[in-house]
Amino acid sequence: MADVDVDVIVIGSGIAGLAAAHSAWEAGLKRVLVAESEGVVGGSSRLSGGIVMGAPTRYQKAAGIDDSADMLFHDYMSLNQWMVEAGVIRRYCDEAGPAVDWLGDLGVQFHEDLIYGGGEIVPRCHCAVNGGQGIIDSLHAKAREREIDIALGQRIDRLIVEGGRVVGVAVGDDEIRAHAVIVASGGFAKNMALMEEFFPGAYGTGDWMWYIGADGSRGDAIEFTKSVNAQLTGHGRGLRLLHPNFVTTLEAFVPGWMVLVNRDGRRFGAENAPYGLMDGFMTAQGNVAFAIFDDVVLNPEKGPQVETYKQTIPGREGRGSPNWNPIMVEEQVGRGRIKRSETLEGLARELGLPVERFVATIKRYNAGCAAGVDDYDKDKKFLRPISHPPYYGAEVRPATVCFTQTGLRIDRDGRVLNDFSEPIPGLFAAGEVTGGIIGDRYVGSGNSLSNGATFGRIAGRTVANNLQ
Ligand SMILES: Cc1cc2nc3c(=O)[nH]c(=O)nc-3n(C[C@H](O)[C@H](O)[C@H](O)COP(=O)(O)OP(=O)(O)OC[C@H]3O[C@@H](n4cnc5c(N)ncnc54)[C@H](O)[C@@H]3O)c2cc1C
Repeated sequence: MADVDVDVIVIGSGIAGLAAAHSAWEAGLKRVLVAESEGVVGGSSRLSGGIVMGAPTRYQKAAGIDDSADMLFHDYMSLNQWMVEAGVIRRYCDEAGPAVDWLGDLGVQFHEDLIYGGGEIVPRCHCAVNGGQGIIDSLHAKAREREIDIALGQRIDRLIVEGGRVVGVAVGDDEIRAHAVIVASGGFAKNMALMEEFFPGAYGTGDWMWYIGADGSRGDAIEFTKSVNAQLTGHGRGLRLLHPNFVTTLEAFVPGWMVLVNRDGRRFGAENAPYGLMDGFMTAQGNVAFAIFDDVVLNPEKGPQVETYKQTIPGREGRGSPNWNPIMVEEQVGRGRIKRSETLEGLARELGLPVERFVATIKRYNAGCAAGVDDYDKDKKFLRPISHPPYYGAEVRPATVCFTQTGLRIDRDGRVLNDFSEPIPGLFAAGEVTGGIIGDRYVGSGNSLSNGATFGRIAGRTVANNLQ
């Protein structure tokens, strides 16, 4: 076997990188090096909400939830209309549940209550205690215990390739050699040129676009894997959330009591839809909508109180809407960002919407509220008529970027494929740096951390098994 400095090099210390490192270590490789470009461990994973999807898990079992990898696969493929690579998704679904349990074995703590992420039949989204930071802290602590090296401030800029095989990485003139390299360097939302090329749906929201993830998401791997002709897949994919552009505060869901209309003054979906679906709704509306509400939001005594969000996320109880609360609304009316009018006709004119159609839309919505039914099957617990003037409205766009999903194409074992769909010897990948796992529809909540943990674990195992 060739002379090496370490057994395996992992690029990136987010959930995918740390999962790969632990998995390789557990499978027998004791010289594992994680190279991290930033001065802190964890990437976007650290900043995340810490929701991880998987089925079946011991946490589901303890909560009396009957679920299976087959049900997850069915939901995943149906939601994505089979426009993802079924073999790779099959592997993902088979291993996502065990990966959640394994995170638990590595010290990650999950709340007992699971949540629904999207439209799944049973809850399969696991909420980590202390969110993404809790996950990273546990994996980091375990890495120290196992003497897995994490080198900070090492921004890999080149792969070392000999005879078509990846045998190491370099930072400038410093080279380090290994039996294999696992790329887990995250997405590219910090790189505007790559956003324009690979995620035009987000780039097109213009100066509203706001990325909530880590600084290291510069897409370096897209550049440094060109030398081995790595194949990219998943063009145009990623996750965007609706955003009013008042301030840069993350709000994953629009309050359910709101009404959304498009430029034609028509509704187009249930306002409380999961974010994976809302992203698609917004693409179909040309990425612009208008959020409509009435004075009950500012003066609750004027009308009935209904729910704001579908569910409470364990560990985040009691949080209200950061964008759509009385203080923010008054402030944004003052700035002219929210329009206010005593009549629906006046509001339509302020927003530049077709007046008669908009008024008809609201009348129909209000009639539905009175009857307890909704054209888009919005849950009754959100239904409240827009009937207490003054009325309010603001433009919203799917401009909050959570992550990107154009990336390296991998096979079901985490091997990176070249342009001819052949595995590139010595090169593996996992997490947000890969493409093709997350489809046009983000499944549930926790699809991305789960992708990272699952394929990180698979890649680490594949590397170790191939060396024995
Ligand atoms: C605020 C927020 C909330 C989210 N909530 C959730 C959630 O609850 N559930 C969910 O599933 N998803 C969530 N996501 C998405 C999810 O967190 C990410 O998609 C996921 O963490 C990506 O994991 P990763 O390991 O692939 O990449 P990252 O965690 O981003 O790690 C990649 C690492 O590689 C490093 N790196 C980059 N380039 C180089 C280089 N050249 N050399 C060395 N190192 C490099 C980066 O600095 C970074 O540390 C959220 C995202 C954000 C931003």
